[in-house]
Amino acid sequence: MTATIIDGKAYAQGLRGRIANAVADLSGQGVTPGLAVVIVGEDPASQLYVKNKARQTVEVGMGSFEHVLPASATEAELLALVARLNADPAVDGILVQLPLPKQIDAQKVIEAIDPAKDVDGFHPINAGKLMTGVPGLVSCTPLGCLLLIQSVRRDLAGLNAVVVGRSNIVGKPMAQLLIAQSCTVTVAHSRTRDLPRVCREADILVAAVGRPEMVRGDWVKPGAIVIDVGINRVPNPAAGQDKTRVVGDVAYAEAAQIASAITPVPGGVGPMTIACLLRNTLEAACLRRGIPMPQ
Ligand code: NDP
Repeated sequence: MTATIIDGKAYAQGLRGRIANAVADLSGQGVTPGLAVVIVGEDPASQLYVKNKARQTVEVGMGSFEHVLPASATEAELLALVARLNADPAVDGILVQLPLPKQIDAQKVIEAIDPAKDVDGFHPINAGKLMTGVPGLVSCTPLGCLLLIQSVRRDLAGLNAVVVGRSNIVGKPMAQLLIAQSCTVTVAHSRTRDLPRVCREADILVAAVGRPEMVRGDWVKPGAIVIDVGINRVPNPAAGQDKTRVVGDVAYAEAAQIASAITPVPGGVGPMTIACLLRNTLEAACLRRGIPMPQ
């Protein structure tokens, strides 16, 4: 069997197109959703990511507000900026780019964001809403994974899902979303015993670990849907000295022989994260104004 390749880039493009249409409709009602992105310091990877976000925000017709603080910024300065953004009526979504410099307590900053503007879905109020099945803002990467899974199989009820990784930003919310879809969910992590055996039970296997190609082909149940969240930069001597390439947490070539559908890296989950951020900003803009979320 050769798996269907789940094209996250194409799906994300379609999603951004639908968001742009909804934003155009809202502008007819005098509403322009706005996303504020805050970056502290000059980490080049974060800066590139933030630039991409800003470009895509403007492309769907939303307002984009970028705030750059120096790496030496204090926690008090960042909290003051968050408070200003919370109070700013033009801002519907606030994203503080992580990681933050060590003098700043990231959890404190996350908890300072108005949950109604928490488009990353990291605030404990939104995490709690997800857990209790109350509508709220859901973490972008797992939301993107769910949309990709449902692009190949709509009804997930009764399927065995294994999520490898238990971080607050990917693994745990992913597990909650799959529980809400009536999957039987196992969350695996670094202390899990016999991980290959656990993975072989999975009709849906989500790898969010951060270890290049850790999940081998023989860990995959024949016909499973495999979602690879990992982004790992590894040496690429074939392309020249000091060259690198990006691989996922799944040994793609092996797994694609066994799975029924699989996301590639790059071009799978990655592009969905920003698209879901824009979706969340649209949702936050609608919720704050009591407007129904366009479908
Ligand atoms: P974290 O480092 O926060 O979490 C990694 C998880 O993997 C932990 O729960 C850890 O277990 C588990 N783990 C580590 N080693 C093993 C092992 N040998 N066997 C089983 N489990 C293991 O990472 P994130 O959740 O933030 O990210 C995971 C990956 O996804 C990374 O590659 C990251 O770059 C990528 N990512 C991609 C995004 C995208 O847009 N596509 C967005 C966010 C992340 P334990 O808890 O026991 O330590």
